[in-house]
Amino acid sequence: MAISGKTKSITPILDGKIGIVKSFDTLTAGDGAKKDELPGKGELATRTTCNVFEFLQKNGVPLAYIGRDGPDTFITRICNMIPVEVVVRKIATGSYLKRNPEVQEGLVFKKPVIEFFLKTSGRKFEDTELPCDDPMLRWDRKGSVCHLYFPDRPHEQGHICQLLYPLQEHSSLKRDLMTCERIARHVGYLLGKAWEKLGGALYDFKLEFGKLSDPKSEKQIVLADVLDCDSWRVIWEGVQLSKQKYRDGDKLEDVLAVYRVAAALTDKFPSMSV
Ligand code: 5GP
Repeated sequence: MAISGKTKSITPILDGKIGIVKSFDTLTAGDGAKKDELPGKGELATRTTCNVFEFLQKNGVPLAYIGRDGPDTFITRICNMIPVEVVVRKIATGSYLKRNPEVQEGLVFKKPVIEFFLKTSGRKFEDTELPCDDPMLRWDRKGSVCHLYFPDRPHEQGHICQLLYPLQEHSSLKRDLMTCERIARHVGYLLGKAWEKLGGALYDFKLEFGKLSDPKSEKQIVLADVLDCDSWRVIWEGVQLSKQKYRDGDKLEDVLAVYRVAAALTDKFPSMSV
């Protein structure tokens, strides 16, 4: 039976080890507060994700992705998802500026900034009620205790609480996120180079990771989910090639045009050398 989210579904096959990911034509922003149907978007987003994943696969990034299927579906390994969004920032913009108001928009980071946000919905993580969704995760100086912070406030004004997570899971979460960070930096380098070759600039993007459940894989951490216009901010020839256009309230036909251009440009990714 398919498990459906806001913008895609996953249908397990072959004893649940493999899944078919289907992208919908639905577009959402603000955690579902804004929602529209954009016929054709599911196919374009799938094409972009497949292009990006095949490029990353060729360059040695461990992936859940297996291969293309239909126009709006691809095949993936099913894994246990790590409940964290990993954001890579190469150029300062977006929510980073809310947490760091002293930083000028457009600042190019010498080394990309990696941030972790806990994935929550309905302001809940497991049984814990939270004052906001997707709080930021940060470890204390010693690196032993993890705290949650409001994602839209400077840290000194934004502390929420300590992440109460069973101790063992807590230390394995830190270890897992260090692996995610290493892979995310590699993805940042590769994707940045690929967009640069096409005349684009990659500002930031979001990744999600999972652990393979097959015992032979020893719970290897792999890049999972999707990686398309909804996941990044890219400016190409002065055009914002990302969902940011939709978040900013642009006309739906212009938003669809962005998905089309991004799909056409990323068609070049799988054969690109960086
Ligand atoms: P920000 O934290 O500045 O809003 O977003 C940073 C980057 O992560 C942007 O490229 C944005 O597209 C991506 N991002 C952040 N949160 C989400 C999310 O919930 N879903 C998706 N698809 N991308 C996200």
